[in-house]
Amino acid sequence: MKILVINAGSSSLKYQLIDMETESVMAKGLCERIGIDGHLKHSPLVGGKPVFNEDIALPTHAEAIAAVIDKLTSAEYGVVSSMKEIDAVGHRVVHGGEKFASSVLITDEVMKALEECTPFAPLHNPANIIGINACRDVMGDVPMVAVFDTAFHQTMPGKAFMYAVPYEYYQNDGIRRYGFHGTSHRYVSGRCAELMGKPIEELKIVSCHMGNGSSIAAIDGGKCVDTSMGFTPLVGLPMGTRCGDLDAGVIQFIMNKYGIGIDEMLNILNKKSGVLGVSGVSSDFRDLDNAAAEGNERAQLALDMFHYWVAKVAGSYVAAMNGVDAIVFTAGVGENSKSSRKAIAEYFGYLGVAIDDEANSKRGEDIMISTPDSKVKVFVIPTNEELVIARDTKDIVG
Ligand code: ADP
Repeated sequence: MKILVINAGSSSLKYQLIDMETESVMAKGLCERIGIDGHLKHSPLVGGKPVFNEDIALPTHAEAIAAVIDKLTSAEYGVVSSMKEIDAVGHRVVHGGEKFASSVLITDEVMKALEECTPFAPLHNPANIIGINACRDVMGDVPMVAVFDTAFHQTMPGKAFMYAVPYEYYQNDGIRRYGFHGTSHRYVSGRCAELMGKPIEELKIVSCHMGNGSSIAAIDGGKCVDTSMGFTPLVGLPMGTRCGDLDAGVIQFIMNKYGIGIDEMLNILNKKSGVLGVSGVSSDFRDLDNAAAEGNERAQLALDMFHYWVAKVAGSYVAAMNGVDAIVFTAGVGENSKSSRKAIAEYFGYLGVAIDDEANSKRGEDIMISTPDSKVKVFVIPTNEELVIARDTKDIVG
């Protein structure tokens, strides 16, 4: 079975074609600047075919999907002989609200429900929906599955997902913590259990997804019981450019003092805050590491804040689960920055965590970076959201 995994953004579309017999990626690529002009980078990973990397007209997502199918099936760049070889499509959808606690076969009814979730993710869900519609137009009756970033977190109990505001806002408007990166947290926690050789039902895992956007999840017995992102992906840890947790009074103060509106304020909190805002240097942790090494104090402060917040939130999840067996690092910073992992792990001395510096220096593989006698195991596990989407699609399409 071959499954096409699609992650559609407002002007971009990422894809992977996965052969489910071997769970290997046959081709992957990225359409960019959709609706502006258009660019496609398509990389076949089997058959020794060349990479296609050129500007092409992509007025809408439909042309982008058509271009992807064209490349996947072309003599020069293709990895399959025709579209008929693609058995199903798995779509990443950011927000499934309370309606979707797991992945679902896409039907007209599901499309309606997705529209209803749009107010919760006004920047992301419309793009996901456009991607699905474009795919349905171009690919006809190929079965399609929606896999949600929020679904994994639907097991959180009320005490974790409720905000302490008047109950009516939850009841009438769905105002609550939803959480994001669920597909990633699910993948790495499952992989962690495999690496530990134990059923996930017996494990308490703190999963730290640290990329440009970052979130932590408490996973008890395979079920998410708390996570740091909330109603939107703005909160929790300070991130590349997002502020993380913030006193709402600060928002009112800044808006009043500088006479700015809510849209501009949210733009500042989403795009100009986080480690970029604090350091004034960059949102990229590599730049921060370099600047801090050259003595830039604000870059060091931003890094210190990030490490402190990861440790603080992770520690609160140890309390929430009344224990922890493993801590997992994943995503851009989690997978690549040994200095960040080390700095965070130093806060976990009270848990009996000890890091093996040699293992912590390795990259690009699933690896245990704690010493054999460390009471709590620490892992680096490269995330693979596309594989989870493909597996769910396979399971649902059967
Ligand atoms: P996204 O949230 O956009 O999916 P990623 O998970 O790809 O982000 O993470 C991107 C971030 O990973 C970059 O902004 C950068 O800060 C960080 N990163 C990548 N490589 C390294 C590295 N070698 N050292 C430190 N940070 C890194």
